[in-house]
Amino acid sequence: MLLAKVFLDGPLARQDLATSTGLSQAAVSNVVGDLIEDGLVTEAGTVESDGGRPRTMLQVAPRFALVVGVDVGETRVRVELFDLAMTPLATVDYPINPGQPDPETVVAHIFAGLSYVTGAAAVSTADILGVGIGVSGVVEQGRQAVVHAQTLGWEGVELERMLRAGTDLPLHLDNGAKTLGQAEMWFGAGRGARHAVFALIGSGVGAAVVTGGVTYRGASSSAGEWGHTTLCYDGRPCRCGARGCLEAYVGAGAIIDRYRDARRGRAVPGADEESQITTLLAQAGSSAAARRVLDETASYLGAGVANLINLFNPERVVLGGWAGVALGAHLLPAIRRAAAAHALRQPFAQASIELCRLGVDAVALGAATLPIARLLTAGGIREPSKIH
Ligand SMILES: [Zn+2]
Repeated sequence: MLLAKVFLDGPLARQDLATSTGLSQAAVSNVVGDLIEDGLVTEAGTVESDGGRPRTMLQVAPRFALVVGVDVGETRVRVELFDLAMTPLATVDYPINPGQPDPETVVAHIFAGLSYVTGAAAVSTADILGVGIGVSGVVEQGRQAVVHAQTLGWEGVELERMLRAGTDLPLHLDNGAKTLGQAEMWFGAGRGARHAVFALIGSGVGAAVVTGGVTYRGASSSAGEWGHTTLCYDGRPCRCGARGCLEAYVGAGAIIDRYRDARRGRAVPGADEESQITTLLAQAGSSAAARRVLDETASYLGAGVANLINLFNPERVVLGGWAGVALGAHLLPAIRRAAAAHALRQPFAQASIELCRLGVDAVALGAATLPIARLLTAGGIREPSKIH
């Protein structure tokens, strides 16, 4: 508990730890002494206190261990190395074929990325606490994590087994929206909340539901597939095979398709979805069709957010993902109005609707927190590398 407190809220003084945990000063001093001796916690200078002695501040030792976060998105694999202060030490991106990326290629990129980031930062793999991997799709946790990503054509891909064949480092796999939610809970817009929903909007649409401080997973970890809730019965076809899903209206590809339909087949210019969405937003001032498509997008998103509010009674709904950030910067007031019109008044009044704080690349950062979460729950004891 003390280690987690220092990691999440540090730098903190011993007195702060005693006050916030209810432990005695003596107990705090004992445990902190052990943590310092083990190299997990360090003293980080002193601050003046009102009238009293200067207080020594404690923080987690940034170089106690390093962590790797991997974002397996729909258009790229990003591999990023962090220290325990979450300072990025090295990053590399590998573009992948959008649509149906091949699992073997993704695994090869992850291995290449691991050796790139350790080389670029001149560190040894022995310094790495673990590797967290955020994947778009359902990540079924079991003895070895299996990925079901219908929209990528991944049916029961044994990603952990494939990765295990090439590395002995501890591996932690989870859904990308859930790792983004974890990052925002620890360092961003979710700080201080106990009940929050993180809505990730990119090519795909997903959500992480945090209730009582814990990510809600369901029976096989698929909970939060918000993008495939039905917005419009028998509506537009979705990549999952069903019709009328939220993703078929507010996913980046769907927004671009709706704009093309509104202009009788003329596509919005741009080399990829990101530049097409940027162009569409820029055309809102001059094109009635762009304005209409964006107004409708805000309404659809607001209705989707209202569903989240009615189902989960969150304190906060946080919009993230690259398209969520781009759209939210222009459409947040309209999204709030639409959510107000569709949600029940009492839960809506309790909930704020906000933009994420960590920017668009928080999936890799969130993935890197997975091995740290394990270290914190294990009281600072490192997970051994697998021997096979
Ligand atoms: Zn769907």
